[in-house]
Amino acid sequence: MTVLHEVLSANEQYAASFGAKGELAMPPARGFAILTCMDARLDPAKYAGLSEGDAHVIRNAGGRASDDAIRSLVISYKLLGTKEWFVIHHTNCNMEFFTNEVIRGLLANSLETAALGADGFYDVGTGPGSAEAKYVDWLTISDNAQSVTEDVSRIRSHPLVPASIPIYGYIYDVSNGRLVEVPEAHKAAQAT
Ligand SMILES: [Zn+2]
Repeated sequence: MTVLHEVLSANEQYAASFGAKGELAMPPARGFAILTCMDARLDPAKYAGLSEGDAHVIRNAGGRASDDAIRSLVISYKLLGTKEWFVIHHTNCNMEFFTNEVIRGLLANSLETAALGADGFYDVGTGPGSAEAKYVDWLTISDNAQSVTEDVSRIRSHPLVPASIPIYGYIYDVSNGRLVEVPEAHKAAQAT
């Protein structure tokens, strides 16, 4: 079975027992939002106990507080009433395995999927690549406690974010499923 067929068949089953979920209101019932990484091992609905309609989950590579993530958070509170936000990065994040320089070099060579070896990512595909990667800030991570703290701090000090919104900074441990608080991020969240 192809991925497309698998997804459509899973959706058939999901829709067959959809029940009263069609009545859910648009604003998140539990009034909070999570910004987290797109990593396939992370399932925010499971690790944070969410059901449909409960919370906003904003995901990108690294769970970084990019301009676009902040755009979503601002809409989340301003129009849909969330009152508390979580920034959740995680251990063993792919974003720790390269830098802007590395991904720019890889993409300049080839658009095909790179391989990860002991010395980091390397190209196994053929060209051409593109120099466009130079114009993207890839928001890579060198230390995940630091990246959570930076992102909490950036959101906290953003002119469109009210001081009344608590922001919690956590690291999800992919080895055991636990959320671990980042004390520096907690401090950064208090600063106004
Ligand atoms: Zn990640």
